[in-house]
Amino acid sequence: EPTDTVPHVADAHDLIRVVGARQNNLKDVSVELPKRRLTVFTGVSGSGKSSLVFATIAAESQRMINETYSAFVQGFMPSAARPDVDVLTGLTTAIIVDQERMGSDPRSTVGTATDVNAMLRILYSRLGEPHVGGPQAFSFNVASVTGAGAVTSAKGGRQVKERAEFSITGGMCLRCEGRGSVNDVDLTALYDDAKSINEGALTIPGWSMDGWQGRILRGVGLFDCDKPIARFTAKELDALLHHEALKVKVEGINLTYLGVIPQIKKSFLSKDVEAMQPHIRAFVERAVTFTTCPDCDGTRLSDLARSSTIGGRSIADLCAMQISDLAAWIRETEAPGAELLLEALAATLDSFVEIGLGYLSLDRPSGTLSGGEAQRTKMIRHLGSALTDVTYVFDEPTIGLHPHDIERMNRLLLQLRDKGNTVLVVEHKPEAIAIADHVVDLGPGAGPAGGEIVFEGTLDGLRGSGTLTGRHLDDRAALKDDVRTPTGAIEVRGASTNNLRDVDVDIPLGVLTVVTGVAGSGKSSLVHGSLLGREDVIVIDQAPIKGSRRSNPATYTGLLEPIRKAFAKANGVKPALFSANSDGACPVCNGAGAIYPDLGIVAAAPMPCEACEGRRFQADVLAYRFGGRNIDEVLTMSVDEAERFFGEGDGRVPAAHRILARLARVGLGYLTIGQPLTTLSGGERQRLKLAVRMADDGGVYVLDEPTTGLHLADVEQLLGLLDDLVDSGTSVVVIEHHQAVMAHADRIIDVGPGAGHDGGRIVFEGTPRELVADRSTLTGQHLARYVG
Ligand code: ADP
Ligand code: ADP
Ligand code: ZN
Ligand code: ZN
Repeated sequence: EPTDTVPHVADAHDLIRVVGARQNNLKDVSVELPKRRLTVFTGVSGSGKSSLVFATIAAESQRMINETYSAFVQGFMPSAARPDVDVLTGLTTAIIVDQERMGSDPRSTVGTATDVNAMLRILYSRLGEPHVGGPQAFSFNVASVTGAGAVTSAKGGRQVKERAEFSITGGMCLRCEGRGSVNDVDLTALYDDAKSINEGALTIPGWSMDGWQGRILRGVGLFDCDKPIARFTAKELDALLHHEALKVKVEGINLTYLGVIPQIKKSFLSKDVEAMQPHIRAFVERAVTFTTCPDCDGTRLSDLARSSTIGGRSIADLCAMQISDLAAWIRETEAPGAELLLEALAATLDSFVEIGLGYLSLDRPSGTLSGGEAQRTKMIRHLGSALTDVTYVFDEPTIGLHPHDIERMNRLLLQLRDKGNTVLVVEHKPEAIAIADHVVDLGPGAGPAGGEIVFEGTLDGLRGSGTLTGRHLDDRAALKDDVRTPTGAIEVRGASTNNLRDVDVDIPLGVLTVVTGVAGSGKSSLVHGSLLGREDVIVIDQAPIKGSRRSNPATYTGLLEPIRKAFAKANGVKPALFSANSDGACPVCNGAGAIYPDLGIVAAAPMPCEACEGRRFQADVLAYRFGGRNIDEVLTMSVDEAERFFGEGDGRVPAAHRILARLARVGLGYLTIGQPLTTLSGGERQRLKLAVRMADDGGVYVLDEPTTGLHLADVEQLLGLLDDLVDSGTSVVVIEHHQAVMAHADRIIDVGPGAGHDGGRIVFEGTPRELVADRSTLTGQHLARYVG
């Protein structure tokens, strides 16, 4: 139910004022947001919520903060363009808590990302027995080093250089360098042993016998480059594969020879796999396997660090515990002299439990968290923060949360507000909109048909406003009278991925199955773990789409093909001229339309290309027209516009029209067809992948929260689409928390009863009507209340 709203304040000092905002599709809108209140932004996807909240308000706040740094520091930061807005006043520091994954830095864990590990290290440095050192002795990111060197210090006002011995005790396991895993290189991926080196035996990307690599191999003289590798002696093979750095003189130049395996480790393994070019990534994934480090047993820590215990447990033991158990253990632990530290630690661990993440462990690599889990983990840092008068900006914080978990999330958002912060939330779920002090509804439609503020005021005002959101706010989906009967099943037996407890379940075929359960109960482990590797299963997820910055919906869906052909035919030129990676592209931005400063340190904001003014192509290519439009004018159309353009009259291209109709069908009609894929949200990426897959029917589709980013009104359209897929012979399995989707299912598989080790079982399997009648599970109880 709605909270007691705090009295409305009209004092200008207590408002964030936005006047004349025009970013993306915003139509010169003005809005006033009460400070230290919770404002929810609603509206269909593509209506302009993110353009207002993220691209205007939060972007300007962060830009202004960047300007307060010294010129030196600013030199390392992206110089973001000012958002397109006339006036913005009353801004405070904005902190964006979004669903961006936490990167794949192998050294980042839930514990390091939230500073809990830092607290534990201090605790062990003070109370651990035996006492092994200071806090860094427990850090897997610090290696032990001893040595001697020159140290400069100030003595009596003079700089003195002297020789000093130093010794740092770090906690890093030296075998795996704190990664917890060691790699093995699969030799068959490195060379073809039937060939000699000169015949091109080595199959490592970027190694050519004509280049320096070849000259070094021939010049080092440790093996015969004309002999097939299969006939190498043990010594020759060892020199080829493992030799340490060796100086060699080749053609009068001093160079270094390094064996193939150390060379691969140096040039490929120290880098972030995600950031590699696709062919290099494919090579690394083929050639290198990771196994748990035998020295530290995957804990990343040295023996010394693990020898120190409190109450019989090492820091590694604590990091491996489920956080909810760790919180309980900390409460029972005595810490003479460190009571305050223990209290702070317990409070932070409690926030994990409160926020629905109590099932995680601190040693979980950050890169394995889902978008929703990542967002909630980032939120932990702020819950305990002493900062006030901050503007927190959330993007669908209820993603990945069961209705049961949403109640707790709501309490935390209100707590942030009550500490004196302004909280801005983009949301679609009625349970989450319900706590708003103030609502801003954008619309009326999406893309060019949106970009206006159609309502601002209280929740009750929204209900009476007649806007699309207002009309749908109290919608309740009904249970279906006729559910489909499964045509078969995928028999899962003894599933035990992650927390699953030897689960047996039949995943029905030929129907719409919804998998439910609280966050961390084991839904993804069940669906992905047991369906992985089956050829008929197609996973349509929200993960980033790999590709270049020139990738956009038109290239990704294959839409550009028929469009290029149509332009080529109409003008008597080559189709290739009209793709952004050809001679026809702007040579300055290489067809990206924007320049991406490569700073290496921070993610840089793109700047529009000045040469082509963002139009991607050379002037002579832009002179060619089809149906009266040039290629840039086509790429800046929305899906809906393009669907009309290619569907009729001079612009008719049936092959393009078919693809566009599918994009509109998945609710992406507002998307600009040439918009870089990097600007798409997780929900939009998933719907784009679905549009591509819709062409082939049959098989089993697996979707993870397909309602992410969808307005209540759009959920109905999504359900119609899923029905069509099932009716055309596709089995559909969705993991969902949206109760309208649960109500619409043919079968429900409910995983639980709790999260982590309290979950991992199938607690219900049957129709939604049976689930509601049963009321034996949390999902059943919530759904019963929802359908009334
Ligand atoms: P919402 O958050 O309500 O889903 P957005 O603010 O993301 O809506 O999008 C509003 C409109 O602006 C859409 O038509 C979208 O395609 C367009 N848009 C959003 N981001 C960009 C961008 N980076 N470049 C071009 N167009 C964009
Ligand atoms: P759900 O999909 O229901 O939110 P998950 O299947 O993601 O639940 O998680 C179930 C349990 O498995 C949790 O305790 C979670 O921490 C654990 N888990 C999930 N993925 C991983 C992983 N990549 N590594 C380690 N544990 C994991
Ligand atoms: Zn190790
Ligand atoms: Zn350009």
